[in-house]
Amino acid sequence: MLRFSTRRVLVIGLGLIGGSFARALRARSLVDEVLGYDRNRGECELGLSLGVIDRIADDLEAAVSGADLIVLAVPVKVMEQVLSEIKPWLRPQTLITDVGSTKGNLVDAARRLFDPMPPGFVPGHPIAGTEKSGVGASDEELFVRRKLILTPLPESDPGATLAIARLWQGVGSEVLQMEVKRHDEVLAATSHLPHLLAFSLVDTLAHEAENTDIFRYAAGGFRDFTRIAASDPSMWHDICFANRDQLLTQIDRFTEGVAKLREAIARGDSQSLLGIFTRAKSAREHFS
Ligand code: NAD
Repeated sequence: MLRFSTRRVLVIGLGLIGGSFARALRARSLVDEVLGYDRNRGECELGLSLGVIDRIADDLEAAVSGADLIVLAVPVKVMEQVLSEIKPWLRPQTLITDVGSTKGNLVDAARRLFDPMPPGFVPGHPIAGTEKSGVGASDEELFVRRKLILTPLPESDPGATLAIARLWQGVGSEVLQMEVKRHDEVLAATSHLPHLLAFSLVDTLAHEAENTDIFRYAAGGFRDFTRIAASDPSMWHDICFANRDQLLTQIDRFTEGVAKLREAIARGDSQSLLGIFTRAKSAREHFS
């Protein structure tokens, strides 16, 4: 097991999640210095003025070569481009992690770029967030009591996994480990499908002329759906394509489920309808 330092951290992509992690590290004095880099300079300047980072990384080469840990917090679609940009300046002992919502696409990209895979590369995904974007919405408490999934690769050094896990625990997360494929299956079902359903429901209702004022009556479950549908469209666009196969499987399963409900209602089949509702209720009670 190698020993890795996490004293100097570079966050690439200083938005909601990157900014929140930077803020959380600084607020708890877990590292010596946090640098921020973003293709949108305004986010870095705002981050600096809000105390999210110690310094703006003006020179990416110098920042990457001087960093102990690099956190990729950019949209999933641009992870590969950023990895290839920083590749020439990585040292053998550099830790690299990310916060992307999908893992298979990142690992495939890394396998295309690196041979051998760097021992310090350990992908990650915080199960925390909001429908907001940008460093202005960052929150140092965002990861407290939330799960953080690490998907170490066979080539990841256990010391790297440990060092990255310690930082996430330090900002309040419960750290879990999963295989890459399992991560994408689970998240397709528990996060990507629900977001898709929210977008679809709100879009369907909003398009009906007679529903123009429906949002005035939003309450309870529907209000939550409308909140989720306010999430960043381009982020969710990228996630759908990055996790395409798993998401298509989940959409098919869900479509079958809705068709069963429809059939039961159309046939007046109380027993089937109650059966589905009762099973769902007891599953919810069992797992919560
Ligand atoms: P965000 O839009 O708030 O931040 C992304 C930042 O990346 C922006 O500031 C943007 O300017 C920057 N960026 C884009 N391309 C870049 C490039 N090529 N080089 C440098 N910077 C670049 O988005 P976010 O919500 O913080 O999401 C970041 C990552 O976290 C995504 O991969 C997303 O899948 C993941 N994630 C998001 C949530 C959530 O709820 N928002 C939760 C968990 C994980």
